[in-house]
Amino acid sequence: MAEVSGRCFCGAIRWRANGSVLWAGHCHCESCRRASSAPFTSYIAFNRDAVTFDGEPETYASSPGAERGFCGDCGAQIFYKSERWPEEIHLFAASLDNPDDFTPEAHFFWNERVAWADLNDGLPRHPAPTDQAAGCA
Ligand SMILES: [Zn+2]
Ligand SMILES: [Zn+2]
Repeated sequence: MAEVSGRCFCGAIRWRANGSVLWAGHCHCESCRRASSAPFTSYIAFNRDAVTFDGEPETYASSPGAERGFCGDCGAQIFYKSERWPEEIHLFAASLDNPDDFTPEAHFFWNERVAWADLNDGLPRHPAPTDQAAGCA
């Protein structure tokens, strides 16, 4: 894939990813729901060394071994990292400059979804994370 880029709401944080998309999908876990205050979160995952930032995201430990990055000015969520996937960074796909650069492949943590977000896109629905993708919490 060509280089893709994104930014937070206010533009203080910008990111660029130059490499293959490892996976892309929607996470319905409770942690992502609460962290983003949205019914689910959409991720596009890259190797960490494929991603560079303009501006320094603030971070917090959302659970042991896991870190979430956000803009300290506007509060927009930027990324998720976990020791479980030490090579990966999961960027919030909704922060893409071009939303069409995201092609979701599956739903994760389907068992934790809210009932009022009705999704019938035909994508696979994994009750939990798979070995490859979307293990938040
Ligand atoms: Zn911002
Ligand atoms: Zn999640």
